[in-house]
Amino acid sequence: MSNFRIFKQVPRLLFGENSINRLAELVPAKKDPKDYYVFIIDDVHKDSNIVSRLNLTNADFIEYFPASKKEPATYQVDEIKERIMKEKGNQKPISIIGIGGGSSMDVAKAISVVLCNEGSSSLYQGWDLVPNPGIHKIGIPTVAGSGAEASRTAVLMGKDRKFGINSDFSMFDAIILDRTLIKNVPTNQRFHSGMDCYIHCVESLQGTMINELARGYASKALDLCELVFLADGDDDMLMTASYLGGVSIVNSEVGVCHALSYGLSLELGYRHGYANCIAFDVLEEYYGPYVEKFRKMLKKHNIVLPKGVTKSLDSAALNRMVEMTLRMERPLTNALGENWKQILTPDKILQLYARM
Ligand code: NAD
Ligand code: ZN
Repeated sequence: MSNFRIFKQVPRLLFGENSINRLAELVPAKKDPKDYYVFIIDDVHKDSNIVSRLNLTNADFIEYFPASKKEPATYQVDEIKERIMKEKGNQKPISIIGIGGGSSMDVAKAISVVLCNEGSSSLYQGWDLVPNPGIHKIGIPTVAGSGAEASRTAVLMGKDRKFGINSDFSMFDAIILDRTLIKNVPTNQRFHSGMDCYIHCVESLQGTMINELARGYASKALDLCELVFLADGDDDMLMTASYLGGVSIVNSEVGVCHALSYGLSLELGYRHGYANCIAFDVLEEYYGPYVEKFRKMLKKHNIVLPKGVTKSLDSAALNRMVEMTLRMERPLTNALGENWKQILTPDKILQLYARM
């Protein structure tokens, strides 16, 4: 019997310019005056024409998520859930719509889970720990690359670890891929998030857990990333790459870069895409030709990565980063095989961090 998961995908998808205007076709209809939707919207869009196109009503619960400050945490998800339940007299919403990057979409997924499952979101960080289906949910990316729109993961920072809720119930019921929503993303952010996709594809293609189906998605997404970041590929291609990269991860895994980047995010607060770029740049040993290509992309887009980022950290912080990395057992097994602990020793991890 194969170890691969049952391949669940987002069942409904709207693709194309201005497709956000058709959101009403994807949300369950309100039948009772008490029915409402929850919108989790990246606060960068607070006064934008994205919000004015949503037909928000007074009944809806709107949360502007401060994604630019830091990545989402379990306590934030728990706090938003409490506020929703208090304001709405414990009546649950009929749909949750997450609009933004991976951060805001992951918050939407996690809230959907905790509204139907007891206790803190931290209880569900791990693989297949969610007993009850969540609330209906829709994802609308406004920056491309994370693949959160397609994946079964909601990544959250906990007290001492960054970890995903990985469940079929943390997967969107519908998504909207509208390239007009990503056109104003600043160059650096576009690059960092886009490279998250590129790195997902490299790690999944180079890993041991991949199957032919995931390879199909990942290799197409990788081609599209190269067209976008080394040639003249457009935003439709970038959105498609992000989505396909996310789908591929459902049946494969990330690898060494993600394992190391979680440590950087934990101790230095670096954004996911940015942390991945810093880590990937020192991983020639594992992903040689892809690192070369990545450096060409950096050059073409005039992106300069910092050096010596771990210099200021004390040994306690570095040890926490090593521990965080060693917890990423699945990605490291995927990248290096069952004997990964003999290859990626704590010393080796420290050496890699020292080069960043
Ligand atoms: P993000 O959501 O963290 O946002 C990054 C920045 O881009 C923020 O400052 C945000 O305000 C800004 N932004 C978003 N849309 C914008 C727009 N249209 N114009 C201008 N600025 C805009 O970015 P991301 O790279 O999409 O996601 C990273 C997050 O996703 C991390 O928390 C990471 O852990 C998570 N992640 C999740 C998965 C998954 O499968 N669930 C996969 C990879 C990463
Ligand atoms: Zn990633």
